[in-house]
Amino acid sequence: MDLKFIEALKLKNKLFFLFVLITLALVFVGVVGASYINAMKKNMDSLYFGSLVPVTELNEIIHSYRNGISDSIHKATRKEISPLQASQSIEKSLKYIDKTWKSYSQHFKSEDELAYVEYVDLEIQNTNKSFQTILHYLQNGGEASKISLNTVEDKIYKLQGIIRKLINYEIEVAQFERKKFLNKYQDIALNIGLTLIFVIVAVFVISTYVFKSIQQDHTKLHTIAKKLKIANKKLENTSYTDSLTNLYNRRYFNHIYERELKRAKRDKTYITFMMIDIDYFKQYNDTYGHIEGDFALKTVSKVLKDTLRRPSDYIFRLGGEEFGVLLSQTNESDSASLARKLIDAVKSRGLKHEKSKVSEFVTISVGVVSCIADDALEDEVLISRADEMLYKAKEGGRNRYQITTNVTYAKTINM
Ligand code: GH3
Ligand code: MG
Ligand code: MG
Repeated sequence: MDLKFIEALKLKNKLFFLFVLITLALVFVGVVGASYINAMKKNMDSLYFGSLVPVTELNEIIHSYRNGISDSIHKATRKEISPLQASQSIEKSLKYIDKTWKSYSQHFKSEDELAYVEYVDLEIQNTNKSFQTILHYLQNGGEASKISLNTVEDKIYKLQGIIRKLINYEIEVAQFERKKFLNKYQDIALNIGLTLIFVIVAVFVISTYVFKSIQQDHTKLHTIAKKLKIANKKLENTSYTDSLTNLYNRRYFNHIYERELKRAKRDKTYITFMMIDIDYFKQYNDTYGHIEGDFALKTVSKVLKDTLRRPSDYIFRLGGEEFGVLLSQTNESDSASLARKLIDAVKSRGLKHEKSKVSEFVTISVGVVSCIADDALEDEVLISRADEMLYKAKEGGRNRYQITTNVTYAKTINM
């Protein structure tokens, strides 16, 4: 079965397709079932009308001959009833027999049966003729005692035998029809069962395909979503990190600086900002080349990162070989010792810098500003004061820090 088209369908269409399929299957089962049941009903009708009614009719005919005719003649001969009463009863019975026989003859008859029925018909007509003669005789004032009861009995007895044979035949037919019906019924039940099994299997197979296809779509979608998430994360990371050092970039600094300053102002807590610059880095590049310079930048970044371990400590690469450090809830003396720690850590990393005038290794200078934030604190003042302190540290001989807590005035700087 080529079910590629199902895979090409959209989810909504797939479900609609499944719905249509199940509906069609149910309609199909309904139509087939209804037609089978209809056929079954027809069979039941033919069984009933074709076999049971004729038997009843034939029995009624015999009964009429016995009770309506024979009994009346007997009673009349014994003078229990008048000849007129007898004749009325005979006339009524003959009419009834005639009517019932006509009704019986109209039912469906097989070829074999028809021949015998014609024979019975002839016998009935003959018998009835002789009873008509008796009827006329009685109507015309004839004496009942003169009627030969033996002849009457013989005729009825003979006819009864003939009709009984017909009854037996009808019963045989009924039994045969019943057997036929039972066989047919078994066929019908089997057919309905097979149809149902076929429909269920077909619906199951198609549903499995549809759901498999839906599952595939889902998996595909899931994979795409996952990839998209990773891509987004990457994009997000690149938008706030620096690709060389993996530190936060200048853009992210602007965002974090504003946020942390606001928080410190609101909570009236300490805020510390450090500006870090590598000493004689121009010379480093000139001596070892830019590639080594980049490597040194990475190494210094890693040292800074490893030294500042609190989750609330932020390190940024602000540009070139300049870094920014933002600390919260760290007082002046702790900030100073942290700056010292950073300076020592960079130096003891042991990156050779033979052209440096302060050490045989790469060193940094740090400008630090630390204060308790309040509403009077101007937004840019921490940056300008840190920059000033860095300048002082450089002037003071490099490989050192300079700290201030004075944030009373701001000085505009270009970073
Ligand atoms: P000072 O001690 O006064 O800071 O001296 P310096 O030579 O470090 O002076 P300055 O800070 O002005 O020098 C910046 C130098 O850093 C310029 C450039 O050669 C180098 N630099 C800036 N960005 C990069 C970079 O991304 N990679 C490399 N390899 N070097 C850089
Ligand atoms: Mg610099
Ligand atoms: Mg420098």
